Amino acid sequence: MLIVLKPGATEEQRHSLVATAEGDGFRVHPVPDSERRLIVTGERHVPDPAAFIGRPGVADARRITHGYELASREVHPRDSVVRIGSVPVGGPGFVVIGGPCAVESREQTLTVARQVQAAGAHILRGGAFKPRTSPYSFQGLGEAGLKILAEARERTGLPVITEALDVEQMDVVEEYADAIQIGSRNMHNFPLLKRAGRARKPVMLKRGFAATLEEFLMAAEYILAEGNPNVVLCERGIRAFSDFSRNTLDLSVVPAAKALTHLPIVVDPSHAAGRRDLVAPLARAVAAVGADAIMVEVQDDPSGALCDATQALAPDAFAALVAEVGRVAGSVDRPLLRLEPRTHRRRQGELSDHHDAVIAAQ
Ligand code: PEP
Ligand code: MN
Repeated sequence: MLIVLKPGATEEQRHSLVATAEGDGFRVHPVPDSERRLIVTGERHVPDPAAFIGRPGVADARRITHGYELASREVHPRDSVVRIGSVPVGGPGFVVIGGPCAVESREQTLTVARQVQAAGAHILRGGAFKPRTSPYSFQGLGEAGLKILAEARERTGLPVITEALDVEQMDVVEEYADAIQIGSRNMHNFPLLKRAGRARKPVMLKRGFAATLEEFLMAAEYILAEGNPNVVLCERGIRAFSDFSRNTLDLSVVPAAKALTHLPIVVDPSHAAGRRDLVAPLARAVAAVGADAIMVEVQDDPSGALCDATQALAPDAFAALVAEVGRVAGSVDRPLLRLEPRTHRRRQGELSDHHDAVIAAQ
């Protein structure tokens, strides 16, 4: 249920409404950026607007029962901006995320981090825990990989995004990452979604490869309902009958999601295509369709990658992609986010200058 307060509603009136709802066993969620809106949810029964209409301070109360109340644009009309480190995703600047599929070694990750930064990426990606189809495939370096990502952040200033595969890994991923990725295969892992909702870091939720838009939004709602408002969606291709690509990139989900939700949406053409020759053409379309960001896999030696070797781009191809994406994004009035190094500090014990990124575009 959505309660809209009158413009002049007092704090006491608000408290009294919250107390009533909580006393009846419901949970009350403030709506970010709107002091006049409250969302009331209940697991066992549905809150009744009639109990609130006409009470002091209440302008309106109405039932919302689609299952993604907090994610919905109906409740939260303005676009949300989620900060990953100092990078705003969902703001006026288009964001580029690049990096290897997996953290394979310190040298590989630091090299690729520098390369994607030089190409214009804003955020570094890399998996320390990998969800592999075969148990005999490289599973990732685990915590050692997270430490390498943290070092890459120290050296480049790029915030890092990395995946947690299960509830037990969440503590350590939360400690090192700037944003926690929940992978496609885990979009329906409700205990993991709930744990992500209690994390102190933003979460990027990838769409299950057979999930409907509604299921995707309700998965995001699990995270929001636990109190974490910083959720970014990611389309990464769905399984259809294409015999020429790994998955089918569902670009239509971007405007469809934008109509229903205020959450930012990233598109990952690498996992959708599964082959590097399709990544740049899809990336141009991603920038044109109205996504907030793109995520692309990059490797120094793409064909030698331990994970997803067929889809990784070489650093020069990634640099060309970022330039093309920048041109398309600019043509639809969503120029690439411009980050300016404001301070170059050399903290004691640090190995390099740390770029404190600030946003020039805002
Ligand atoms: C990834 O981005 O590292 C990944 C495993 O992707 P997905 O969950 O979309 O398959
Ligand atoms: Mn991958």
